Amino acid sequence: MIEEKGILFILSGPSGVGKGTVRKALFEKDPDLKYSISMTTREKRPGETDGVDYFYKTKEQFEELIKDNQLLEYAQYVDNYYGTPRAYVEETLAAGKDVFLEIEVQGALQVKENFPEGVFIFLFPPSLEELKNRIINRGTETSDLVLNRLKEARKEIELMDAYDYVVVNDDVDQAVEKVQAIIQSEHLKRERI
Ligand code: 5GP
Repeated sequence: MIEEKGILFILSGPSGVGKGTVRKALFEKDPDLKYSISMTTREKRPGETDGVDYFYKTKEQFEELIKDNQLLEYAQYVDNYYGTPRAYVEETLAAGKDVFLEIEVQGALQVKENFPEGVFIFLFPPSLEELKNRIINRGTETSDLVLNRLKEARKEIELMDAYDYVVVNDDVDQAVEKVQAIIQSEHLKRERI
């Protein structure tokens, strides 16, 4: 059985839906997956590490990366830039390993244009009320930021139709199991004898 290139999986969905939590739990269970660490201009949160959670960049550095075409996609999200380094994704896929992106919806739509063969998974909140509670309970945002993130979330949910799969995140373990099932079945689809 030959599978030459890795598969690009894109986990997306509104901020606060639990993408980070699902992604971290998934990586504990599936160490073969490679996570693409994003670039961002947002401030580092307490407990985050440069080169682990994000590569933290200044606005000028980020704009230079855009100009040099070094980003596979990028988006401006609540006044900050976020983007995926192109070289890491392309090289890892070429080496036959799966790559996993965890990004917001605008960026995911850009990836879809460049990598239509990617597998697009939308993580859906149990409800908007629950989403609001999660954003508030995270406690790292000012009330203005909470409102902005909720506004983004409503817009993002409208774009759900472009995705291959929708996973409702009312239970992290179940959501992870569903994402694992998606990964497995996408491999089976692409296997050649
Ligand atoms: P946070 O500031 O909470 O870490 O992330 C805010 C949003 O940006 C989240 O929805 C997160 O998934 C998204 N995000 C993180 N990295 C990237 C990226 O490289 N590109 C895009 N488009 N969004 C990203």
